[in-house]
Order: sequence, then C-alpha cells, then structure tokens
Amino acid sequence: MQLEGIHHVSSITGDAAGNVDFYVRVLGMRMVKRTVNQDDPSVYHLFYADEAGSPGADMTFFEYPGARQGRAGAGMIHRVAFRVGSEDALDFWAQRLTDEGVESERDGASLRFADPEGLGLELLADESGDPPLSARSPEIPAEHALRGFAGARAYTPDPERSAALLGDTLGFQPEDEGGNAWESRGEQRGGFYAYDPAPAERGIPGAGTVHHIAWAAYDDDIEGWNERVSAAGGHTSGLVDRFWFRSVYFREPSGVLFEIATQGPGFTSDEPLEHLGETLVLPPAFEHLREQIEPNLTPLPNPRAASSAT
Ligand code: ZN
Repeated sequence: MQLEGIHHVSSITGDAAGNVDFYVRVLGMRMVKRTVNQDDPSVYHLFYADEAGSPGADMTFFEYPGARQGRAGAGMIHRVAFRVGSEDALDFWAQRLTDEGVESERDGASLRFADPEGLGLELLADESGDPPLSARSPEIPAEHALRGFAGARAYTPDPERSAALLGDTLGFQPEDEGGNAWESRGEQRGGFYAYDPAPAERGIPGAGTVHHIAWAAYDDDIEGWNERVSAAGGHTSGLVDRFWFRSVYFREPSGVLFEIATQGPGFTSDEPLEHLGETLVLPPAFEHLREQIEPNLTPLPNPRAASSAT
C-alpha cells in the first residue's frame, strides 16, 4: 500500500461568497462541487480543484457564516502550498495579487501570501515532474495556472513525536534528519508535509484555519489503511462513506487531523464533468433534507456562468 500525496485540504470560511471569489476568480481554480458538510448539513462544503476535480488539487471549505477569524497554533496546519510551472509564473502571480490588493512575499522559487481570511498560502515553482492538475480560467494564462498541491506546513513543538506514524505507518519518506520534513510519494504524485516550530500563542480554530488534510489512497486499500493506523495505536474514525470517496480519519501525534481518502469514485459520479459545481448537490442520504437546507444557505453565483458572460 502507498499513498499518492495529498488528496484534499479542508479549511473553514466565514464568507462563502468571498471565498468563491478568491479561489475561483483570483486563483483560477474550478468549483467542482457545491454541497453541504456531511457532519453538519446546515453549512456549505465547497470544493475547488483542477478542471477534472482530481485528488491532488482539491481545496475545500466548510462555511460557517460570520465565523470569527482563527489563528494557526501548535497541532494545526498553517500554510498550504500549490505548484506553478516556473519562476515566471511566480512573477505573474506576484503582480496579480498586488493588483487584487493582496500582499505577497517572494523568496526565490516561493511566493507566500494569505487568503482574505488569513489562511497561509504559498506558490512554489514546480520541479516534481508530476502531471500538472490545472483548471481553465479566463483571467489566468494556462502556463501560469496552479498545478495542484505541493504540500502543507504544520506547527508543532516536537516533530519527533510524529516520526513513527509518518514514516513507519504511512510510508512518508524523511527529507531531513530532524523529522521536520517528509514526502508522501506514490506512483503518480507526491506532496510534502513539513513542520515549523509552534508559536507561543495557542491556536484558535476559526475562519482562515485548516480543519484537516487528506492523503490519497487507492480505493481497494482503504480498509487496509484503517487497520494499519489502528494497529499502530492510532484512534481512527473507522471507514466513513463520503459518497465521492471513502475515508478514515485520525489525529497524527502533533495534533493535526489526518484523513486518508480513496481516489474514487470522484466528483463526476453524480454530475457531468461540464457542469461540476454549478448547483447544490446532495449525496443521496441527504437529498430528503434539500427543502430544509437549500433556503438557509448563502446564495452563491455559478462562477463559470459569471466568467463566460464577461
Ligand atoms: Zn476531508
């Protein structure tokens, strides 16, 4: 069994409309699913990804309208990194973010910034050779488009605590001596998971913070992953059917909530590829709640219709 890097990263927003505008219009991702949080169907779960809704490019948000801004602390991911094709692409993004009033910081092959609610983001010039996972956007030249996840960075005071789980149980490869940097790499793709020293201030969950990170598994391996993590002493959720994928959740020793999710059946299992994300889609088990759910959700435009109209 091996994991194929990051499947998705799920975070919290207090402002669905602003979130769609930033991730779809500004960053040029495609909204590939508009649904509700299966653990709290009164709130949105929005998925942004590449054109095909692939695992490996899937940034998701739970909307808690008006949620207070949180702050990443120990045991929380504080930055999510995406790949771009070149350092020229970083020049393009630095200018585009400036034009949008977003401050960014260039450091060689890296461009760091934050989304409107303070979620740390980074673009890295990609040297992985992995197939790019990009979306089409009317405002982003194809050669500069985001290409999927590069990795994620978390805060911990003690990276050694997580080393056995990451290395022995999940098969991540160490990239340094101190257990601060790891890579999950499979046959198709890889992604890094790195630690930075935790700030003194306690973390506060809220808007602009990451809720969990999911790693991509082959469909037939998901029971095996549940057993392997359990056998290593991890307290897992057991298998959870998320309709578009099947998942196992557990906390890694630093405190970050991990999920292992299957690559299939995927987002085209209930919507045609051309129309992904245009309307509210509920998994069959939630469809009977539509009349209660839909009127209470923040109205959102279809971002593709908005862009093709201009
Ligand atoms: Zn998830």
